[in-house]
Amino acid sequence: MELACPHCKKHFDFEPVTILTPDSEHLAELFRGSLNSVACPQCQAMLNVPVQLIYRDHQRPFMAVQPPHPLPPEEEAAMALRLDESATEAALDEGLERPTVRLVFTRPDFIEKIALHRQGLDDRIVEYAKFQLFNGGAEGINPQRHRLLFDFTQQAEDRIVFLIYDRKTGRPVRILQVPMAEFQNLVKEFQTNSEARQELEHCFPGCRVDIDMLLEPHS
Ligand SMILES: [Zn+2]
Repeated sequence: MELACPHCKKHFDFEPVTILTPDSEHLAELFRGSLNSVACPQCQAMLNVPVQLIYRDHQRPFMAVQPPHPLPPEEEAAMALRLDESATEAALDEGLERPTVRLVFTRPDFIEKIALHRQGLDDRIVEYAKFQLFNGGAEGINPQRHRLLFDFTQQAEDRIVFLIYDRKTGRPVRILQVPMAEFQNLVKEFQTNSEARQELEHCFPGCRVDIDMLLEPHS
C-alpha cells in the first residue's frame, strides 16, 4: 500500500502484515510492539500503519481479530455478531471444527489473547480470575481505575503474572502474581461444576471475552 508521511508528505510503499500464524516470523515484532511500524525514508519519522490484524492457528483452531481502529460500542457489538456467524458458517461449509474466535479492539488485548492461547490458558477463566482479583482478591485495585493484563513476558510454571495498568494514564503501575495452583483450582471448578460452567458460557457467549462484560452485564 502507498503511505504518505504526515510530517514531510513523502509518499512511499509499505506492505503491512495483516495475517499472523503460530510460526509467523512477525510474531516477535507483534510482541515487541513494533509490528507495522515503519520509518519514513525521507524524514525517518516512525509511522504506525493501521490495518486489521488476524491471528490464525489451524492446529488448535483459534482466531483473533483486531480491527484497524476503535469502534463505537454499537458497531463493536455488530461486528462481534458478524464474526461469530461467519466463523460458524465457514466451519460448517468446510466441515471443520469451529475455531475459538476472539474479537478485540486494542493491540494490548490482541497480544494478550494470542499469548493466552499459546500458553494453553482459557481466556474466559482468566477474565473471571481478574474479576475475582478486583472483588477482594487483591488489595488496592479497582476496575474503574485499573486494568489487568496478562504479562506474557514473565510466565513461570508456578504462577500467573498480571500487569496492573492505570486506565487513565495507560501506564503499568505494578505487577500482581497469582499462584498457578489457585488458578488451576478455578479451572477445576469450571470443569466439574456444570452450573459454574453454564454461568461462564452465559457471561461470554461469543467472540468478545472481556472483564468489562462481567462488570457491566450485558442483557
Ligand atoms: Zn517523512
